[in-house]
Amino acid sequence: MDSLFGTLLQPRSWDRCDIAPASRVTIGEDGKIAAVGAGAPAGSDAVGGEGCWILPGFIDAHLHLPQWDCRGLDGLSLFDWQKQVAYPAEERFADPDCAERVAEEFVGGMIAHGTTTVAAFGSPFPEATDRAFRVFERRGLRAVFGLMLNDMHVPERLSTPAGRALESAGALAARWHNQGGGRLQYALCPRSATCCSKELLRGVAALAESIGAHVLTHIAESEAVESAVRDMYPDLLDDVDLFAETGLLTRRTLLGHGVCLSDSLRRQVAETGAAVVHCPTANLFLECGLMDYLGERQAQIPVALGSSVGAGPEPFMPQVAVACLQTAKALKVRAIPRGSYTAPRPAEGWWLLTGGAAQALDMGDRIGALEPGYEADCLVVRPEPWIAGLAPEQQVSALLYTLRPHHIEHVYIAGRRVGP
Ligand SMILES: [Zn+2]
Repeated sequence: MDSLFGTLLQPRSWDRCDIAPASRVTIGEDGKIAAVGAGAPAGSDAVGGEGCWILPGFIDAHLHLPQWDCRGLDGLSLFDWQKQVAYPAEERFADPDCAERVAEEFVGGMIAHGTTTVAAFGSPFPEATDRAFRVFERRGLRAVFGLMLNDMHVPERLSTPAGRALESAGALAARWHNQGGGRLQYALCPRSATCCSKELLRGVAALAESIGAHVLTHIAESEAVESAVRDMYPDLLDDVDLFAETGLLTRRTLLGHGVCLSDSLRRQVAETGAAVVHCPTANLFLECGLMDYLGERQAQIPVALGSSVGAGPEPFMPQVAVACLQTAKALKVRAIPRGSYTAPRPAEGWWLLTGGAAQALDMGDRIGALEPGYEADCLVVRPEPWIAGLAPEQQVSALLYTLRPHHIEHVYIAGRRVGP
C-alpha cells in the first residue's frame, strides 16, 4: 500500500481546478484510492514529498499505436500523409514481432509522458492486435483498443472483407474485453466513413451494442474528407448522416477530430451522446483546420482531447491541452465582432485531460479524479519550484503551460507503479 505526499491538483469541472498543498493520497491493496487528506502520511516511506505534486493520470482519447514511430513527418496533406506514412506504418504490423516491438515502445512512451489511459486504434491484423493487448496487460496501461476495421479505399494488404473483420474483432473482444481487472476494454475501430462499407458499419454497431464496447472512429476531419463522403453517398449529407443511419452514434462512441462539423451536425451528434475527441495538434499539423471548440462546448457534446499520434507530433497531453487553448485563442483574435468568441481557461485544459475525458469515455465514475474509490491512476511530478509561490489560479495556469515529461517521477495505474 503506497502513500503519496505533495500538492494535489484536483480538476473538478469545466471551470474549477482545486489545489491542496501538503496533502496525501493513500492507495489501497485493491488498486483504488483509499483515502485523500491533509498532512503527511504516518511513517517515512511516502512517495513524493517537498516540491512534488500529485495529479490524476492523463487520458489520451484518440491516437494510433502503429504510428508511434512516425511522428513529426511534416509537409503532407491528410490524404498524402495516409498514403505515405499511416498505411505503410500499419502494413508493417503483418509481422507480429514488429507489431509487438512497436507496442512496447508505445507503452513505454505513454507512461513516460504521464498518459495512463489511451483510447487507441490498432492495425487491421488480429495477431498484432492480440500482441498489443498482451503488452498492455503485462505493463499495466489502461487501454480502450482494437483492430482497425476497413474494407474499402485502403491498400489491399490493409483491407479485410466485412464478415471476416467482424469475426476477428469478435474473437479479440471475447479474449480481451474487460480483462486486466477491467483495465482493458476492447473497442470497435471502423477507420472512417470512406473506408468502411455500410455492411461493415452496421456489423460494428451490432457487435458494439451486444458486448457494451466503445466505437472509435474519425469524423469530419477535413473538407476533402467531407467531399469524398458526398461523392460516395450522394443520397446522404455527410459522415454524421452515414454513422447515424448505420447505428454507430451512441454514448460510447468517440468521434476523432470533428473539424468541419456545422452547428446543425453538432446538434445531431449531441442528441446521441457521442463524444468528439478534439485533436488540435494533428488538425494543425495536417492543415485540416481550426476546430471550433466553443461550438462543440455550446452544443454540449462531451469533449475529450487526443494527441492523434502520429498525425499529431506531440504525445505529452498537457501540451495538447495548451494547443486546444491556443487554437481557440487564434479563433478569438480573428473573430468579428471582437469579443464574440471566448477561449477556454487553463482549468478547462486540466479537466479535458482528466475528469472531462473520463466522462466522455463513459468512465467518469472510475478514473480521472483523485478521490476515494477511484482507480489510483496518478502521477507524482516535480515541476519548476517557483510555481508553488504563485496564487492558486496562477498555479493552475503555469503548471499546464510549463510541465514537461522530465518532471514526472512516478506513474501509477490501478495502484501499481508502472514507471517511468
Ligand atoms: Zn486518427
